[in-house]
Amino acid sequence: MEATIVTLPGDGIGTEVVSEGVKALQATADKYGHSFTFDEGLIGGCAIDATGAALPDGTLQACQRADAVLLGAVGGPRWSDPAAKIRPEQGLLGLRQELGLYANLRPVRLYEPLLDVSPLRPERLRGLDLVVVRELTGGIYFGPRREATSNGGTAYDTMVYTGDEVRRIAHIAFRLAQQRRGKVTSVDKANVLAVSRLWRRVVTEVAAEYPDVTLENMLVDTAAMHLLRQPTDFDVILTANMFGDILTDEASMLAGSMGMLPSAWLGENHAGVYEPIHGSAPDIAGKDIANPIATILSVAMLLRYSLDLEHEARAIEDAVEAVLAEGYRTLDIRVDGATPVGGEEMGDLIAEAIRERGSPEPAHVSEVSTRAHVHQEKKSHA
Ligand code: NAD
Repeated sequence: MEATIVTLPGDGIGTEVVSEGVKALQATADKYGHSFTFDEGLIGGCAIDATGAALPDGTLQACQRADAVLLGAVGGPRWSDPAAKIRPEQGLLGLRQELGLYANLRPVRLYEPLLDVSPLRPERLRGLDLVVVRELTGGIYFGPRREATSNGGTAYDTMVYTGDEVRRIAHIAFRLAQQRRGKVTSVDKANVLAVSRLWRRVVTEVAAEYPDVTLENMLVDTAAMHLLRQPTDFDVILTANMFGDILTDEASMLAGSMGMLPSAWLGENHAGVYEPIHGSAPDIAGKDIANPIATILSVAMLLRYSLDLEHEARAIEDAVEAVLAEGYRTLDIRVDGATPVGGEEMGDLIAEAIRERGSPEPAHVSEVSTRAHVHQEKKSHA
C-alpha cells in the first residue's frame, strides 16, 4: 500500500515521540512491503513562532490531502499566557473542526508486563481492555461562554448537544462494541443536566438498532469510582467531551502511565488524526526520557482505522508487549530489576521487534475486514 502521512510533531516532547512513531511506521513499511511518504508540518507553539498562527494554512491543507496525520503535542510555558489571542491549543481545536473529526477513541489496555506499575492491585487490573469513545467537537468546550471581567463578576460555560451530535457518536460506540465484547456504558449526568437527559434518550434509541450490544447507563461520578473499583467491567465507554477528557486521564493511570495511552480522532472519512493523550511535558523535554509508547500505539491505531491494516497494527502492539516483557523500561514505567532505556532506545527496540517478529502475511483476514467496517458503517450513520 502507498500512503501519505502528515507528521505534526508540535512542541516539547512531541518532536521526540513523533520521531519514534515514524521509526515504527518505517519498520512496518519495510516488513510488510508498504510505501509511506512523510510530510512534516507545523502546529501549536512552534507554528505561532514561525508563522503567527497555531494552525497555518499550509498545515491544514497538507492534512486535508493526507491519508492520516500523526500528531505529537502542543503547548508549553513559552505560550501559556491564557489572555494571549493566539494559543497553541487553537491548533488542535482548529484541526478537529476543519477536518470534522468528532469522535475521539481512547483505548486503555493494561499490558501484562506493567501489572506492577499501576497504582491499583494486579488482581483488579488483569485483563483491563476498554475504549473510551469521547465526543470531541461539541459540549461544554464549545458552547456559549462568558469570561468574568472581575473577581466579583459572573462567568459561565454552556454544555450544548444536539440529538444528531449524540446519535453519530453513539453509532461509533455501538459499532466498536460489536467488534469487542458487546457492551456500551454510556456515561452522563442525567440526574442533574438536561443535556445529559437528551444524551441518554438518544443513546437508548440508537441502542435499539444494536440488539447484540448491551447498553448500560452510568452517572459520571459513579463511573469515576467504578473505574478504580472494577475497571475490567468496562468494554466501551461512551461519553461527552469534558467527561471523557477527565475519565481518560484517570484511566491512563490504570495502564501505568500517561506515556502508554494512544488516541485517534475520527470523522466521516478514513483520514484521521492520531496522537498520544499526553501533552508536551516541558518538564522532561529534551532529556530523552519521554516514553514514546503512547505515540507508537497511536501509529498502530493509524494503521488500523485509516489504512485498514489490522495485521500490521497488531504487529506493532505485539512488538510493544514483547519489548516490555523483556524488561526494557523508560523512567515513567520503571520497576526494580528493569533495564532502563531512554525514549530513543525504546523506539529502536520496538522498531527492531516489528522487523524481527510476527508473520509477514496477514493472519487475521476476517478481522481485517471487520475493522475496516467501523468507518464504512460510521459513514452511513452520519
Ligand atoms: P503533560 O501530559 O504534558 O504532562 C503531565 C505529566 O506527565 C508530566 O509530569 C510529564 O512529565 C508526564 N508525561 C507526559 N507524557 C509523558 C511521556 N510520554 N513519558 C513520560 N512522562 C510523561 O501535561 P501538562 O504538564 O499538564 O501540560 C504540559 C503542556 O502540554 C501544557 O502546555 C498543556 O497545555 C499541553 N497539553 C497538550 C496536549 C496536546 O497537545 N494534546 C494535551 C495535554 C496537555
